Amino acid sequence: MRVGVLSLQGAFREHLSVLDSLGVSCCKVTRPEHLDGLDSIILPGGESSAMVRIAAGTGFFPALRERIGAGLPVFGTCAGLILLADRLTDDSLDGFDRLGGLDVTVARNAYGRQRESFSAPVQVTGLDDAFEATFIRAPQILSIGNGVEVLSEYADVPVLVRQGNIWGGSFHPELGIDTRIHEEFLHSLGATV
Ligand code: GLN
Repeated sequence: MRVGVLSLQGAFREHLSVLDSLGVSCCKVTRPEHLDGLDSIILPGGESSAMVRIAAGTGFFPALRERIGAGLPVFGTCAGLILLADRLTDDSLDGFDRLGGLDVTVARNAYGRQRESFSAPVQVTGLDDAFEATFIRAPQILSIGNGVEVLSEYADVPVLVRQGNIWGGSFHPELGIDTRIHEEFLHSLGATV
């Protein structure tokens, strides 16, 4: 099992260290050729507008979109969720290659600015105890399509969702010492972590 972490910008190191701590083979992914041989990819939080600019014109996102469409399991967290959302409420990323694929409508920065970052316990399907979820300039999932399963909610709003091979979360599961959400995702791939 080899898991890539999109490493253009943002919290990729934190995801890599969670995967390392779980004994999962993992690598940074910054170019289309790095997609070969991956069993899955994680798209970290950070700044989606920076990620789309860094990837612009490289053919990277179209190549990744094709892999995801062909079934490559992907987990987008925060900015990664924004990359995967089929619909955004603002036009700030219009004109840039994004990924899409996840049938949700997302509002960027809807949980407030950096200084309004917060963490809160959320219940997650499959976990016995609450997970302390950290929201940093987080996107909000405003609506979901029929095929989207809600795995967690905060204040009656979905914050972790799954549509087949595509997982998306508005918070940062890689911050802190609780690796259970990564484990759930890896279990869905058949990994025994
Ligand atoms: N606000 C960021 C964006 O719109 C996402 C924040 C994050 O990933 N923590 O890309």
